[in-house]
Amino acid sequence: MTAPFTYVRVTGDADAALDTATPGSQLLAGGTNLLDMMRLGVVSPTRLLDISRLASSGPWGRVEETDGGLSIGALVRNSDLAYHPVVRARFPVLSQALLSGASPQLRNMATTAGNVMQRTRCPYFRDIGVPACNKRNPGSGCAAWDGFARPHAILGGSRDCIAVHPSDMCVALVALDAIVHVRGHYGAGEGLTERQIAIADFHLVPGSTPSRETTIGPGELITRVVLPATPFAARSAYVKARDRASYAFALASAGVALHLEGGKIRDARVALGGVATKPWRSHEAERVLAGHEPTGALFERAADAALADAQPRPDNRFKVPLAKATIVRALTRAREAT
Ligand code: SF4
Repeated sequence: MTAPFTYVRVTGDADAALDTATPGSQLLAGGTNLLDMMRLGVVSPTRLLDISRLASSGPWGRVEETDGGLSIGALVRNSDLAYHPVVRARFPVLSQALLSGASPQLRNMATTAGNVMQRTRCPYFRDIGVPACNKRNPGSGCAAWDGFARPHAILGGSRDCIAVHPSDMCVALVALDAIVHVRGHYGAGEGLTERQIAIADFHLVPGSTPSRETTIGPGELITRVVLPATPFAARSAYVKARDRASYAFALASAGVALHLEGGKIRDARVALGGVATKPWRSHEAERVLAGHEPTGALFERAADAALADAQPRPDNRFKVPLAKATIVRALTRAREAT
């Protein structure tokens, strides 16, 4: 049963609404993750600030070109973003990642900021009948460690948590060097101002504090996500392996981007999903790729480097070869992109 809460619809000034946020408040946009968790009793906010109506005013719901890059409003729907002509032409990894996620109905509701903030689908986290979950109940243990860990992380985990970050979109954003713009109070007595966080630094590995998942706090609000102009974004691809062909989270995925010049890879991005506790950037794979001809053998070496530090549990060892295969396939598609 969902605990009682107050509902507030924000229609005008987002800053004023943010100023009224109390410790028990949560922001509501598409609701595709938060309402789910409220129904399950995983979270129980005392106050919901519904900002979804802001999409019709200002930059919240708009995609705008900026000096070769792209500014994506926090409330832009996943489906609108996936089919945006500039995204399809110049940032294909993002369009492909979005279209591989959830269902058309969910993509029509889910927002950019909501996708960035979505929480793990670890079954123990979502089952309040299981007491041992450090993420939901700090200090209680991790039921997944000696339990059912097939969907769990093989990179970035700790003894305290091995939950996978579920987003496809964020993997693409890591491959595109995206910047998250956040609004909040950053000094005593100061008004609301903005700060910027590289997407690769936005999510946290669990370490000994799995309940802390991002670098933003309760009084902060994502306003937009910016894709900078880069020489590698257009030659990019997303490959996802999962149990079903649709409406399933990744068992392993790869978002990659290549800058080719003179028959060689000048720069590369390799990001992984479905295998790590946060959208995972593999600098190791990128170092293997840089400066070389884009051959299949090179792609395999890069995939080996990306998974060299993998620490699977007994029932998800299959993720190591699966993740390598998604990397090789994604790099091959990116190389062949025109
Ligand atoms: Fe909880 Fe993380 Fe363990 Fe899942 S993996 S049970 S979210 S602590």
